[in-house]
Amino acid sequence: MTTVIDGNSVASDIRSEITDCVETLEDSGVNPGLATVLMSDDPASETYVSMKQQDCEEVGIESHHVEIDPDAPAAELFDTIDDLNDDPAVDGILVQLPVPDHVDKREVIRAIDPAKDVDGFHPENVGRLVAGDARFKPCTPHGVQKLLEAYDIETEGADAVIVGRSDIVGKPLANLLIQKAPLGNATTTVCHSRTDDLAAYTETADIVIAAAGVTEFIGGSMLSEDATVIDVGINRVDADNEKGYQLVGDVDYESAEPVVDAITPVPGGVGPMTRAMLLYNTVKGASEAHGVDIELP
Ligand code: NAD
Repeated sequence: MTTVIDGNSVASDIRSEITDCVETLEDSGVNPGLATVLMSDDPASETYVSMKQQDCEEVGIESHHVEIDPDAPAAELFDTIDDLNDDPAVDGILVQLPVPDHVDKREVIRAIDPAKDVDGFHPENVGRLVAGDARFKPCTPHGVQKLLEAYDIETEGADAVIVGRSDIVGKPLANLLIQKAPLGNATTTVCHSRTDDLAAYTETADIVIAAAGVTEFIGGSMLSEDATVIDVGINRVDADNEKGYQLVGDVDYESAEPVVDAITPVPGGVGPMTRAMLLYNTVKGASEAHGVDIELP
């Protein structure tokens, strides 16, 4: 029987523990706050930001939202970030990516105070993660680790194959899985768009993590019966429903599920975990900024 890894359930447990963390902070007079900054009129970005605000509300984190006209000069965004860096009510700052073309994304990431960089993208935080001294683990890779932990999937000594080398998923996840630390110690291979014969890597892996953004391209024939498959991909495909589309992963669930040992669905796998780990980073930031101890999940 294949185990279907339920991200909604694991994320819900984490959110409830984060609610307790918020209460502990409040008992010490600290109201944790997350600022979201949106400089885009892309409907998907608008939806992501409003979901993050909703998530905050649910666990008691105060959400501060700033919207900037996508045609405004870049300076407006940088001034906003400066203000949020200085605002003691804000413990985490999230600038929704992508930003418009006339704004340098790397400069935006560098402008955020690393102590409030709850995405974990600032070079100081990337360096700390690589050095095994992470302050904020990026939300999606951290969520993947938490899913593996929740289902007792051993990473130590496992052969893990990550498909995708992006700065937000593939690279940080590889760095987490190779750490000599709990939820690490995996022998980790990173495959990417120039990998010759991807199946040669995936079919012998104990853990396959797909994060390429290519619709259902990893099928059951590329996976072993002992494999745990974590599908990070979120791809829109046309569908005959009210929305006109549905979300599918990078893994062809129909052919993979009967073959493998455990698998995440899309939606309902990694997505809810990414959202939960943003809340985790926000309360962690608040706890460190105000010197209040909390018990993180
Ligand atoms: P990206 O486009 O920045 O990176 C994709 C990576 O996949 C690249 O490194 C590329 O080398 C690799 N790749 C592309 N085609 C490939 C192929 N045919 N074979 C092997 N490797 C290939 O994407 P990203 O931001 O890392 O996101 C990846 C996917 O994960 C997207 O579908 C995205 O929507 C999704 N995502 C989901 C969550 C979540 O919470 N579930 C979070 C972030 C991203």
